[in-house]
Amino acid sequence: MNVSFYGHVRQYHNIQTEIDSNIHEVLESGQYVMGPALKRFEKEFAEYHGMKYACGVGNGTDALWLAFQALGIGPADECITTANTFFATAEAIWIAGATAVFVDSDPRTHCLDPSRIEAAITPRTKALVPVHLYGQCADMKAIRAIADRHQLFVIEDNAQGIGARGDGFHIGEWSDAVCTSFIIQKNLGCFGDGGAVVTNHENVDRVVRQLRNHGSAKRSCHSPGYNSRLDDLQAAVLSAKLKHIDDWNALRRKWAARYSACLHDAAALTLPYEAPGYYHVYHLYVVETKKPQHRDSLLGFLNENGIDAKCHYPIAIHQQEGYPWGKPARIPEPVANSERNAACCISLPMFPELTAEEVDYVIGKVLEWNQSAGVL
Ligand SMILES: *Cc1c(COP(=O)(O)O)cnc(C)c1O
Repeated sequence: MNVSFYGHVRQYHNIQTEIDSNIHEVLESGQYVMGPALKRFEKEFAEYHGMKYACGVGNGTDALWLAFQALGIGPADECITTANTFFATAEAIWIAGATAVFVDSDPRTHCLDPSRIEAAITPRTKALVPVHLYGQCADMKAIRAIADRHQLFVIEDNAQGIGARGDGFHIGEWSDAVCTSFIIQKNLGCFGDGGAVVTNHENVDRVVRQLRNHGSAKRSCHSPGYNSRLDDLQAAVLSAKLKHIDDWNALRRKWAARYSACLHDAAALTLPYEAPGYYHVYHLYVVETKKPQHRDSLLGFLNENGIDAKCHYPIAIHQQEGYPWGKPARIPEPVANSERNAACCISLPMFPELTAEEVDYVIGKVLEWNQSAGVL
């Protein structure tokens, strides 16, 4: 049996008439950029978050650094984040010209560890950039409390956690901006690139809107900006998909629960940890081998058996070749948890359109490997 890592085409087929009809509507309208489909999606997406504003942009990386720009974060400033995230989190900090400061992650949730933040704060620190890694919210209440004590901005990198919730809080509640990616492999994915900045701050929304469109707030009037727009075809696809995101996340949780129940006794592995009261949306279902030397053995065994398992992310940012390429960066304390996560992580296939047979096949193969792991 082959089990793929993504179910993009299955998802398309499941809601093909809705998507096709939305696309058709845009094609017939003749308005393909900054048109009504974008406006409509922005309104729906803000409402989905229970927030005031959503501004569609070209991709998730742009969403982050345009938000940084709108908050006035630049070369004089430091932004604190973690080293075990997708590379773009750090990239966005560098594109804004700021210094990326990496602190360690929580060993269980793999999100930014609030208890390690304050030691990294300097007079130059301007923002905290937690990532809702793998689809689980970072501890936003604790992060906001630290930000308030030190008068810092909080920008959520929510490329992976659309629809996730914390214990008694929702995404956006404790931050200045929420930045999202809609590239296809994310929980809410369009058919190309896309991203959005969601915020309750009128001025952040206004500046991002202006920056994404050549610094233009009014026709023919410009100040230096960029070109980073979410086009109407992608927005129309996202409008169709947004109606299903909660159901899809529920399915991800169903498959995660099945994995976790059946792999519970696999002694060679540590399973994903869901913090009490949190609603994890399992963008990725990441297990860790207890011994780093076991990781490639499990990955190889699954791949040989037709299972497209992957690693997210096998090389922490500060371990990439050439780091930091002359970019401003700082690692005030060792980041052992982030390094361990990079060395031990394996992502099992996780998407809403999986079948029970596929999930059970993966479980069977992981258990088979686990049997042999003791003697490796
Ligand atoms: C995908 C991702 C991004 C970047 O999104 P793009 O749309 O590819 O630019 C940023 N941060 C995290 C954590 C991501 O997973």
